[in-house]
Amino acid sequence: MIIGISSFCWECFNETSQTKEDYEQLKIELNSDVDFEVELNDENLYEFICPKKHRSLTQLQEQKFEILFDIASLALIDGYTKEAVSSYSSSLERFIEYCILIISLKNSVTVDSFIKTWKQMANQSERQIGAFLILFLQEGIANRIEENRSAFRNKVIHKGYVPSSKEAIDYGQYVMSFIQNTLKDLNQTSSEFLQQAMHIHLTKNGDKLPGNVRLANASMPTIISLRSVQSIDYGKVSLIEALDSVKKKWVL
Ligand SMILES: [Zn+2]
Repeated sequence: MIIGISSFCWECFNETSQTKEDYEQLKIELNSDVDFEVELNDENLYEFICPKKHRSLTQLQEQKFEILFDIASLALIDGYTKEAVSSYSSSLERFIEYCILIISLKNSVTVDSFIKTWKQMANQSERQIGAFLILFLQEGIANRIEENRSAFRNKVIHKGYVPSSKEAIDYGQYVMSFIQNTLKDLNQTSSEFLQQAMHIHLTKNGDKLPGNVRLANASMPTIISLRSVQSIDYGKVSLIEALDSVKKKWVL
């Protein structure tokens, strides 16, 4: 999947007198109205090197489960139903991890302890679901896991079953409603910790980089759209409607 990041160089701008005119001039020189295209990666770090060889890095604010949900939807639009179900399922798994992090933060667990404990369940999704079920039970938040969905998912992922587009849309809609309705609940009960999780997400990469490297945050629209969770209309669009608008966006 290809995404666009800013092709403006702040290092070059620092070498000018930093007026509005300098900014406009530099934008023209660097052709910054056109985004620089990069391939989506797992590290969430995107590099742009300007003609003067300054290096700028950009990261996306969106959580992994949002990106995976979009990857699944693009696969579905292209007719790859099996790949779509696989990525919708990964989106749900990463969302369950996100939920466990939110409730852990709420219970004053430190990020370091969370990471340490998570390692013991990172490769076993059944353990993750178990942790999720018990935490949500204690929080009094509805758990929307439908048992029969995992049999379908396993048939697709482990048994080579090729789902119809109807089945893939149905599964995608289940994951979408699961994530968006749960996010609405979490926003009501734990909004402070949604913010904290965002902060953790955005500082993760910074810790790995040398201090002199500029790291910018960028945002892209996603179907799940965590950033819109506070809107009263949040979660009211169906997957089919969302897919239609994605299709239009690519055609336009
Ligand atoms: Zn530069």
